[in-house]
Amino acid sequence: MSKIFFTPGPAQLYPTVESHVFNALKENIGSISHRGKQFQVIYQEADQNIRALLGVPQDFKIFFTGSATEIWERILQNTVESHSTHFVNGSFSKKFYEFSTELGNTATKFEVPFGSGFDINTYEIPSETELICVTHNETSSGVMMPANDIHTLRAKNPNAIIAVDAVSSVPYPQFDFTAIDSVFFSVQKGMGLPAGLGVWMVNDRCIEKANALKAKGKSIGTYHSLPSLLSNGSKFETPSTPNVFGIYLLAKVTGDMLQKGADTIRKETDLKASKLYAFAEKSPLLDIFVQNPAHRSPTVVVANTTGEASDLIAKLKTKNIVLGAGYGNYKDKQVRIANFPAVSVEQVDWLIEELSKV
Ligand SMILES: *Cc1c(COP(=O)(O)O)cnc(C)c1O
Repeated sequence: MSKIFFTPGPAQLYPTVESHVFNALKENIGSISHRGKQFQVIYQEADQNIRALLGVPQDFKIFFTGSATEIWERILQNTVESHSTHFVNGSFSKKFYEFSTELGNTATKFEVPFGSGFDINTYEIPSETELICVTHNETSSGVMMPANDIHTLRAKNPNAIIAVDAVSSVPYPQFDFTAIDSVFFSVQKGMGLPAGLGVWMVNDRCIEKANALKAKGKSIGTYHSLPSLLSNGSKFETPSTPNVFGIYLLAKVTGDMLQKGADTIRKETDLKASKLYAFAEKSPLLDIFVQNPAHRSPTVVVANTTGEASDLIAKLKTKNIVLGAGYGNYKDKQVRIANFPAVSVEQVDWLIEELSKV
């Protein structure tokens, strides 16, 4: 019997992936040239579908990389000469910050305890900040930053570029793309696809900054610099041989999500999240980890376990349900339950029913 994965990445595959994989093989996607018309059409289809699904305006460009981790490095290389500022509240946001210092920048971090969010108006961003980095959904702790909090950063910091890591929240959030400059994700979480592809959306401010740094003689990297991605991307091509298979699956699955409707997906996400949190609230097995309801992630639900997390995970495994373990030091004390579009309302009901029986 097939398993269902509630792990927050890699995650349950979107239900239509299987048929698209089959078609990809029939269409020889693994063998076609990435310099030919067939690939350009696939890139363009993915580009259009991502725009429609996430509400990305035409003045943004969409590029492909190997992973979101790669995009952390690339955006720092391409938009920062010396100073970035980071909101850190978990393992992913922390790594993004560490990348900046490893690249030789001075970086400011605003750090709050694991499981907490930010009272965004209390932070003074240093005036020398070139790039503000926010993690919309901290996959490690289950804290989501309200999109409006991100948008308010622009008013007080009009000159800084604002980059949003939305890896484990897309396609759920509705960002105001006039208030941010870059959003990125990888595909093995909310998109329900096999890993190995990063998607990087940038506006002209990011590209102009990269050009300016390059003109000054700063290294902005090589093949995946923004100017290189742009000159190839404007023809719907990529600087190196990309994950053509992954881009094909992304084009198809985003098309399926559009058929379902972005709003329907958001409403179902809210419904499933409310069921999961309501269960965790009353279950003797679980305690909701994120205290502030306004910061609880609808897409990654994190709960403390009253017993050993590994026991609970093992019990559910016998029912072919795979829960995520806690992140890092929280491995034995927490479970993480992904609530991505690939799992249906019925499957969440089934999970809750099986948890109730434990
Ligand atoms: C998983 C994750 C990443 C890293 O994604 P990769 O595809 O492994 O590079 C970055 N940020 C967040 C918030 C994540 O959840």
